[in-house]
Amino acid sequence: MTPRETYQSTWENDEVSVRIPFSAAGVGTTIVLTSKFTGRIMLMDVGDGALRDLLEVTRKSDFVFDIDLIALSHGHFDHVGGLHTLLGFLRMRERKEPLNILIPAGCIEAIGIIKGFRQYYHETLPFKIWYHEMTHGSEFDTDFFKVKSFGVEHYGSECSSEEEILMPALGFRVKVGESVVAYSGDTRDCTGVKAVVTNADLAILEATRPLTPDSGPRVHLSIEEATKLGALAREYLLIHRIIDLGTS
Ligand SMILES: [Zn+2]
Repeated sequence: MTPRETYQSTWENDEVSVRIPFSAAGVGTTIVLTSKFTGRIMLMDVGDGALRDLLEVTRKSDFVFDIDLIALSHGHFDHVGGLHTLLGFLRMRERKEPLNILIPAGCIEAIGIIKGFRQYYHETLPFKIWYHEMTHGSEFDTDFFKVKSFGVEHYGSECSSEEEILMPALGFRVKVGESVVAYSGDTRDCTGVKAVVTNADLAILEATRPLTPDSGPRVHLSIEEATKLGALAREYLLIHRIIDLGTS
């Protein structure tokens, strides 16, 4: 198996640090933005292992009080799989501040996890969880992160139908101070993802496919497509690569 560093990335400037403790297609993706002004944290996607990764990245269990906002790009398991565990940890550590979670409108997977969690623990949950259904052009501002969402084109390859059924899926532009960090979410090449990354200080792009196929249904960006999109931003990171399990 390829070393774990292959699936990690970091970037920073004077205003924001970006840490991606793990991102691999079909396994998990978690992106951690930290405001350098305040130490407040925004998560973009919460894949499997997000809690373990956050403990490793922050090196403190009271990071639960630093989380200001969570944004989920779409409902595939590798982007929301760690949410229940993270919410459980926040409950155990007795977070008090309400938690806002941005989700694509109609994202049944995220709504199911959040509503289920609220329902199971409604008598013992020390903080409120609010989810906000976002669409193309929606904005959501906290005191620390200013978010704009863009519709992107993604559909579930595990879908049994031959038909291309797009799922609710978003990319995000996040402003921290004067810096803009853009995240494609999962998408094929489309006008939405161009708008997400153009002129951002950092673009984080999924680059799942090693090669660009000549034809057929498109679920993800190729490395070549993601690299071209990345050139629209000042700097870029490619994530969400296919995991290499080796040949043994
Ligand atoms: Zn996906």
